[in-house]
Amino acid sequence: MKPTNPVFTGVETTIFERMSRLAVQHGAINLGQGFPDVDGPEDIRQKAADTLMEGPNQYPPMLGHPALRQAVADNNKRFYNLDVDWQSEVMVTSGATEALADAIFALVEPGDEVIVIEPLYDCYLPLIQRAGGVAVRIRVTPPNWDLDLDALASAFNENTKAILINNPMNPAAKVFSEDELAAIAALCVENDCYAICDEVYEHLLFDGEAHTPLMCMDGMRNRCVRIGSAGKTFSMTGWKVGYITAPANLLEPIAKAHQFFTFTTAPNLQQAVAYGLGKDDSYFNGLSAELQRKRDNLANALSGLGFGVLPCDATYFLTVDYSPLGLSEKDSDLCIRMVEEAGVALVPVSAFYGGEAPEHYLRFCFCKQDHVLDEAVKRLATWLEGLHK
Ligand code: PMP
Ligand code: GLN
Repeated sequence: MKPTNPVFTGVETTIFERMSRLAVQHGAINLGQGFPDVDGPEDIRQKAADTLMEGPNQYPPMLGHPALRQAVADNNKRFYNLDVDWQSEVMVTSGATEALADAIFALVEPGDEVIVIEPLYDCYLPLIQRAGGVAVRIRVTPPNWDLDLDALASAFNENTKAILINNPMNPAAKVFSEDELAAIAALCVENDCYAICDEVYEHLLFDGEAHTPLMCMDGMRNRCVRIGSAGKTFSMTGWKVGYITAPANLLEPIAKAHQFFTFTTAPNLQQAVAYGLGKDDSYFNGLSAELQRKRDNLANALSGLGFGVLPCDATYFLTVDYSPLGLSEKDSDLCIRMVEEAGVALVPVSAFYGGEAPEHYLRFCFCKQDHVLDEAVKRLATWLEGLHK
């Protein structure tokens, strides 16, 4: 039989799915895949239920339900002071993942270089490759995750079409500094490049910090494709409602890709998300405050067990160094052993690197109920005690 496409044939099932399957298989607590274990606000779910029953349940407009496009435009103004035309500059997608695929397929031509920063989210490399692009990887590494601005500058050349940046960054929990964003912006302008900005964690920053979209930096308003996700903003990752904000000339080809990938997204979910985006500041502040509290509790508990806990400025994720515990195996092997022996599923940080990777770091997802996090810590404590006997 003739071979199937090598990019998708060759790629592994994602680490998130693999660890979740192992968690089920071993009855482990799942702190691997990034999803909350309680659903988001009841009023938003009620809105989705009501709208489902009221209908219509037919195709919404291809670019998205007007109410949601307006709400996304309003949020751009409310949180970032960006003036956005909801009709020509906003599109709804089936999750940020579809938005990334649409943007990459619409912007990248065969042979184009796309700069990506490791650690990187799993779909970036296969999508760039399938689009015929060449991913140029630069990296930030634990424990500081600082962006080397010289390495960044030398990644750009006349073949660079775009940079794909995830800010705040999974799994590093890094928020790019204003200086780093300014350097990226200056290089995009100088080299006439686009930026695909995966900003799904835009509302999950801690310690009073606020997100700055790359789109707000000098010269970037018309170069950025800014991607958000209702899954993260409303703690309902299964909804898969994403949104793109981009200048009209970029959104046009992106919408053409979208029309052949999904065309549209469930109308009731779109309207419920539109309602959610209209919530007042106490919702958004409450979301990050609650996650910050969970971060602090888990970070303290894991430090108490002897892990080296890295700073976490945003997202659902805490990275820890396990070398202080005297464990020396590779992170991917340790994760398998921990799910089997400790009954806790995590994600190895090396999974986010395309080549040689830092190998003694684990990612914990902390958007879980307190008793679940406590039980995970208890299990780890028991397991570690057993190891040291
Ligand atoms: N980008 C990053 C960095 C993510 O962590 C995720 C995971 N949720 C996504 C994109 C995908 O978002 P969605 O579920 O909305 O497709
Ligand atoms: N973004 C999630 C994570 O990092 C996973 C999403 C998925 O499994 N597709 O864990």
